[in-house]
Amino acid sequence: MTLYIEPDEESIPECPNCGNKLVEIVYGLVGYDVGEKAMNGELFLGGCMVSDNDPIYHCNYCRRSYYENLKDYIDEPNNWDEEDIEVLDDVSESLKDADKELINYMTGKKED
Ligand SMILES: [Zn+2]
Repeated sequence: MTLYIEPDEESIPECPNCGNKLVEIVYGLVGYDVGEKAMNGELFLGGCMVSDNDPIYHCNYCRRSYYENLKDYIDEPNNWDEEDIEVLDDVSESLKDADKELINYMTGKKED
């Protein structure tokens, strides 16, 4: 589960290859709102597997995922399609309660 935090536009660099703005890669299970952003190309879904050394930016034009230093990258075709959105909708539903708990925890709210 990922709590997606809106990135600061200015902090996201441009693609060293084509010069277009890179998008942030979001890892973990995501909700429908994040899935929609991915559909719009506003971010890139990195999947559920997270390692110690994952790329953090993605270029939608070059289909490359860049590591923090912007020198190393991996080719990664964006094979996002509408079927995935259906799945994500289900995930979003099942995570709703868990999400609420996490948000309460992070904001210091307590529920009885
Ligand atoms: Zn590029």
